[in-house]
Formats: sequence, C-alpha cells, structure tokens
Amino acid sequence: MSDSQKFTLPALPYGASDLSPTISSDTVDLHHGKHHQAYFNMLNNFADGTKFMDMELDEVVVESYKEGNVKVFNNAGQAWNHILYWEQMAPGGSNAPQGKLLEKIDEAFGDFDTFKTDFTQQAVGVFGSGWAWLIEKDGKLEMRGLPNAENPLAHGEHALMGIDVWEHAYYLDYKNVRPDYVKAVLDNLINWDYVSDRLQ
Ligand code: MN
Repeated sequence: MSDSQKFTLPALPYGASDLSPTISSDTVDLHHGKHHQAYFNMLNNFADGTKFMDMELDEVVVESYKEGNVKVFNNAGQAWNHILYWEQMAPGGSNAPQGKLLEKIDEAFGDFDTFKTDFTQQAVGVFGSGWAWLIEKDGKLEMRGLPNAENPLAHGEHALMGIDVWEHAYYLDYKNVRPDYVKAVLDNLINWDYVSDRLQ
C-alpha cells in the first residue's frame, strides 16, 4: 500500500441518515464510507509515482481514459462520479426543476414526468454495473447510460446529474428492484437547484 493521500474523500455534505427513507443510513455508510473511500485508496495506490499525482481529479479522469489506463481510470472515475452523486442530493426532500432547467427538460423530453420515466428506463437499460447520466450538450439536455466508471467527463461531455446503478447503491434498500430506486431518487432526493446551477 502507498502512503500517499494525494486524493482524499470529501466528507458527506449532510448526515448519513438524512437521505432516509429513500436511501437508508446503512446504505449511505457503506456506499460513502467503504465503496467511495476504497476508490480513493486504490486511486492513490495506482497513481503513486506517476504523473497523475500532479493532476487534479478531473484531469486524471480525462487523461487516464484517453490513455486507456484502466486501473487509474476506474478508480478516478468512480471517485469523481460519487462526489457528484452525493452533492446532487437534497436531504429532507426534493424540490422541482424551475426556470431555465425546466424549459430545457420540456424542450428535450416533453415534460418533467416524461423525463423521469425516460431516465428511469435509461437507468434500467444499463446492463450490469454503471450509471445513468443527464448531460448538457450544445445547450440541450440528453441522457446517457454508461458502464462501470465511465462518465460524461471522460467522453468530453458535461454532466448535470448522475445516478449510480451499481447494486451496492440500492440492494440493501430495494433488493433487485432497480427501477424503484431510480424513481425514488428522482422523486424524493435530487436537488434540482444544484442540477440547474451546473447548466453551462
Ligand atoms: Mn457506487
């Protein structure tokens, strides 16, 4: 193991029980404290002694993906993905998209309810482990379903929101029923003001 702690796990921006009941404190403890922490530990390990130690995390994601450095990318990607995942949640309940974000949702998907249905389908369509993403491209919103650690950043695209559909994200709370987890997060936990603030 490396002694390097160049890349460090940010603290949760709220308490572990604050996403309950949509996401239980047991899931948050495990997901943040074990899984997210482990990606940082492995990133520090694999990046030790390389040029990646001189980069910020988002640069590591882009460069390691470009080079096909799978060990570094998988862990840097997951480290980055989960930072967005935690930050986009609104403890105590969701608000609704407004203003420019709502206009863009309506323009791209018809209306907010259709967006949520389509996004859930996108998330269900990710085979195995991965993420469902809402991105902004040329001023318009689009969805992506990407495997494993892959993210819009690695593809040169701008992520607005991402839902983790690895089983560790939902299995304790929803067993195998991925659509219920995705729907509940969209309905109850996403901070749409945060998503709106990410618009370019
Ligand atoms: Mn995860």
